[in-house]
Amino acid sequence: MSRSEELFQAAQVHIPGGVNSPVRAFKGVGGTPVFFKRGEGAYLFDEDDNKYIDYVGSWGPMILGHCNSAVIDAVRNSLDNGLGFGAPTEIEIEMANKVCEIMPSLDMVRMVSSGTEATMSAIRLARGYTKRDKIVKFEGCYHGHSDSLLVKAGSGMLTLGEPSSPGVPASLAEHTITLTHNDIESVRKAFAEMGDQIACIIVEPVAGNMNCIPPVPGFLEGLREVCDEYGTVLIFDEVMTGFRVALGGAQSVYNVQPDLTTLGKVIGGGLPVGAFGGKKEIMEHIAPLGAVYQAGTLSGNPLAMAAGLAMLNAVSEPGFYEQLGAKVELLTEGLQAVAMANGIPFTTSRVGGMFGLFFTEQEKVTSFAETMKCDADRFSKFFHGMLEQGVYLAPSAFEAGFVSAAHTQDDIEATLAAADQVFASLK
Ligand code: PMP
Repeated sequence: MSRSEELFQAAQVHIPGGVNSPVRAFKGVGGTPVFFKRGEGAYLFDEDDNKYIDYVGSWGPMILGHCNSAVIDAVRNSLDNGLGFGAPTEIEIEMANKVCEIMPSLDMVRMVSSGTEATMSAIRLARGYTKRDKIVKFEGCYHGHSDSLLVKAGSGMLTLGEPSSPGVPASLAEHTITLTHNDIESVRKAFAEMGDQIACIIVEPVAGNMNCIPPVPGFLEGLREVCDEYGTVLIFDEVMTGFRVALGGAQSVYNVQPDLTTLGKVIGGGLPVGAFGGKKEIMEHIAPLGAVYQAGTLSGNPLAMAAGLAMLNAVSEPGFYEQLGAKVELLTEGLQAVAMANGIPFTTSRVGGMFGLFFTEQEKVTSFAETMKCDADRFSKFFHGMLEQGVYLAPSAFEAGFVSAAHTQDDIEATLAAADQVFASLK
């Protein structure tokens, strides 16, 4: 028995399913989750001393690779001053200034400790600000596990085949209107019926929790128009895309400005951080300035701020995203070529530092319905084949993949060579 197998058995005694977050359990792909003990640059090392090229990057944060020295040093330097005070610190100002400089649609920003908290707080703020209860989300988008947002959600919910969760009161879920992603007509229709009751639209501007699906031309622009027309708050959930698809997030790539933005992952450098921010006139409704309550014992934690700020400084270097994007292009174009050479129906998507892999006859996948039609069994076989070859992909057909600055051309070529063998075995 491998150490991972032993540990997985031991983990299941006191941890539900042996994991502290569901997708980690390999339910979507079958088999035993790999237990890791160390990361370095583009690589992960498991408890059996196997080495993997990592395309999960802790589900997004590790855009510089593991154990980046600037981030680790920043945390080390902060460590000796104490782990947290629950009182204001100077580094929180530096962080807020940096985020608002990088994303000009943010006049103000509040730090929290996870992406879930960021989106939950942003929709409460939108509801408090507009004095409306209804919210709009899109099928297959995931915005964390707060009650209002666990309706037809993506990511682990799709992986487990349970898009809506028991435990969410129907009386709350009825305020969540779920529409078809990338279909602006469905949005216009819903707003024509009840637009004046809708507090906010929340959207992943590049959907990363139903594989990786970029917005079709006009979709984000259309959301902006509809929100302007009905006085509805437009929230871009950039927990995944922020500092990932470009320094300024998807809003800079597609040139559409939301009213509120939620952030997570990269902003914490690998430590637990989230944030939400946006227009001053909306953000001023948050306590203690306004009446919409939101708080956090560990919010703005100095270690987490040190890690996040070091990360944001590093990714702000000129040329960072051009280089990252070129690596993703090399990977996705290469995978497509290798699949074609092996006669496997397969396509990819990519925006900046994130990508999607689809086992489908279709040339491009642009909708939730199409992503659900992809061959999930074939993905599972591909996933396990790659794992055996020392390549760690997200253990689900419904997750985006991530490349880091630490990945080299050699790493990508090794990945393509592995994929060539695995595709051949899938014929
Ligand atoms: N929003 C999006 C777009 C996400 O991808 C995620 C997590 N993958 C979340 C929100 C929730 O963030 P967290 O897991 O940090 O609560």
